[in-house]
Amino acid sequence: MFSTFFVNTCILVTFLYITGLISQRYKIRLHTLNRKVHWIGGTLFGCYGIVLMYYSIPVGFNTIADLRHLAIVAPATYIGGPAALMATLLMCLGRLLLFGVTEQAIVGAFFTMIVGLGCAWLAHLSWSRLSKLVIMNIFALGVIFCSLTINLNNNMYVVLHVYPLYFAISMAGGFLLYVIAESINTSNELLLRLEYTSYTDHLTNLSNRRQLEFSLEEQLPRARQRHEHLSVLVLDIDRFKEVNDTYGHAAGDAVLRQLGQILIEKCRSNDIVTRSGGEEFTVLLPNCAFRQALRIANQVLSGVNQHEFVLADGLILKVTVSIGMTTFPGTGGDISGAALLEQADKALYEAKNAGRNRICSYEV
Ligand code: GH3
Ligand code: MG
Ligand code: MG
Repeated sequence: MFSTFFVNTCILVTFLYITGLISQRYKIRLHTLNRKVHWIGGTLFGCYGIVLMYYSIPVGFNTIADLRHLAIVAPATYIGGPAALMATLLMCLGRLLLFGVTEQAIVGAFFTMIVGLGCAWLAHLSWSRLSKLVIMNIFALGVIFCSLTINLNNNMYVVLHVYPLYFAISMAGGFLLYVIAESINTSNELLLRLEYTSYTDHLTNLSNRRQLEFSLEEQLPRARQRHEHLSVLVLDIDRFKEVNDTYGHAAGDAVLRQLGQILIEKCRSNDIVTRSGGEEFTVLLPNCAFRQALRIANQVLSGVNQHEFVLADGLILKVTVSIGMTTFPGTGGDISGAALLEQADKALYEAKNAGRNRICSYEV
């Protein structure tokens, strides 16, 4: 019996690992679960429960014991009530369809349903995950005790012979499940955070230079393939050093943050706004021809001119920006992403030389 339950635990752990990989692949987080995750998670755990039934041990005529209840407890703890109910339904159907509709199977399915309903209810309580998992496990084991007693025709000798070890192994299995699920969840969370921070500028929360290069590598071939235009704006704050020197670095940071917001407001929702350097921002405008890009650049320029930059001490500051722009494909034909950024940079340089607070476009 011990070795069968050990196999049960190994199967459960393997399935948990697979579920962890799936949630990592689709960036599923425990606090952003939607209906689709409930359905898919419930179906997966339902299948895991059915597999566990194939590794059950017989404890009497047509009566089996296994750790399938943990395949209900796990989704109830980590996903929620609907997922637990979905898993329960599948396991009940699996028990009846795959193992025959016997009296014992019907009793088993009935008690599995009670476990599912109870766990789905417990899932809504605002307890810690460990408390939920332990309480659900004990509740399920209580229900299983009733099920075994009925199925074994009140043969208390067999029940008491099997049950204590079953209880101990189930509790140990539940605890192992908790340790592994928590470790998978922590590493998935860390990976997501690492991914986010590596592509995000911490000051403005915009994308950073790395993300800009990545997006450009993605957008340029797409524009080529679809015969669309891709415009680029490079924006630099005018005489920003003076802002820092006069009002301090914190004031400069406040200006950078507010400028990031202006860019988000004035550009289209699918435009990729990045802080590409110290006080330099780059915007990729997919499917955007020269005229439309110029219109957006003008909106940004006048938006900045009209904006009153409020500092922490309530002081109001006005700043201006210079913008260089270019559009792919230009008159020069096909070019690389780096060359496209260089064109926008040259245009920015011209805007600075021409007196700042203006837009210049790249010309061959
Ligand atoms: P120009 O009009 O020619 O662009 O003049 P400028 O003063 O803006 O240009 P310069 O390149 O001389 O100065 C850029 C300044 O941006 C210098 C640097 O201290 C400041 N800077 C860069 N990154 C940050 C940042 O994260 N926070 C703050 N507050 N300042 C920054
Ligand atoms: Mg600069
Ligand atoms: Mg500057």
